[in-house]
Amino acid sequence: MGNLKINIDRLSKNLNELAQIGMNENGGIDRALGDESDRVARKWLIDYWQNKMNKTVRIDAIANMWVRREGSENLPPIVVGSHHDAVPNGGKFDGALGVLLATELIQTLEDNNIKTKHPMEIVSFTGEEPNPFNVSTLGSKVLSGRLKKDDLMQLKSYIDGSSLQECIEKIGGDITKANEALIKENDIRAFMECHIEQGRRIYDKGLSSAAVNCIIGIYRENITIIGEANHAGTTLMQDRHDALLASGEFNLAFEKILKNASSDEVVGTIGYIKVFPNSANIIPGKIDLVLEIRTCDEKIKQDIIDRLSNETQKIENLRGVRIIRKVNLDQSHIFMDKDVVNAIKRSIGFIGEEEIELVSMAGHDAANMQRVTKSGMIFVQSIDGKSHCPEENTDIKEIEKTGNAMLKALLLLDEELN
Ligand SMILES: [Zn+2]
Repeated sequence: MGNLKINIDRLSKNLNELAQIGMNENGGIDRALGDESDRVARKWLIDYWQNKMNKTVRIDAIANMWVRREGSENLPPIVVGSHHDAVPNGGKFDGALGVLLATELIQTLEDNNIKTKHPMEIVSFTGEEPNPFNVSTLGSKVLSGRLKKDDLMQLKSYIDGSSLQECIEKIGGDITKANEALIKENDIRAFMECHIEQGRRIYDKGLSSAAVNCIIGIYRENITIIGEANHAGTTLMQDRHDALLASGEFNLAFEKILKNASSDEVVGTIGYIKVFPNSANIIPGKIDLVLEIRTCDEKIKQDIIDRLSNETQKIENLRGVRIIRKVNLDQSHIFMDKDVVNAIKRSIGFIGEEEIELVSMAGHDAANMQRVTKSGMIFVQSIDGKSHCPEENTDIKEIEKTGNAMLKALLLLDEELN
């Protein structure tokens, strides 16, 4: 089994074919939950699994798609996969690579008549990316019990008010049965996901892949800065309490704190700002902001929040404004399973590369899966770190190396887990 290799030409052809579904004139992929291209992509995948692999496809209550290859022993399956939906004008590898590589791994086992102890399953998750129902990683949230039937039944699109129930029905699911999709203990032995890094750490090191040890936590605050709206002509400079200037100062102070943090795997952004009354001849009286911190280190996060509180006070005193901060999300980081991380690392070593571990700076289905089974991820290099854009790209040679590493990891897990 030592020299078992994936068929990179077949995988490359499949990547290009699936990428045609939802491709716009910029070369970006539009494939959102429940839209026409989601339905066509699902049909393409189902046809492929049925006709090229002779497998039955199971569609669960939330419309995740599953394909199974039996094992030689009566054990729970090892599952590999990712998602096939995309952000608007997204790239062709985000998600799709994980699904098609999972497919290629199972095909490689079949081509070579490799028997595994565990059954092997492919999964393509529903609605991983943000959507008009305001839930991301939808399919895996349902599997892990983070979203139950009653929550789902209430979700409506903020675009046209249509229900999630309708949307899921159109793609073959039935959310009235969502609670039955919950993964219980020993339903799945382990889960592995391959994904592009979507950052430039692996690329800058000149490597092809990395084992993910943790999926980052996300912390958000809604912030309101209250100054004083007044006439932009008649109010002298020393008499102003300009909320927009205070917010500029606040944003720069936040950047400085982040840049001085004791790890480079922590990032923060103020990506939303609203100015009131937003008029050329009125001094801004009020600002709404949303601030975000992402890290896998609780201590670093708390330290940043404490320092920010100091700065908040200073800016309030200096500019005569009030800064009101409210936490609106505190989703903790999730460590990946040690056995799976280890198997992935050793497999990267096996293909002759440096064994490195990285924190995932983006959220993934694997974070939800870790709540119900041993889970891990392998990242493949993203050229220039680009993702969520048409320029998203990965050299097929790097995909081949990573695919072979993942194949090895799959066989290691099959051997080592009961
Ligand atoms: Zn993704």
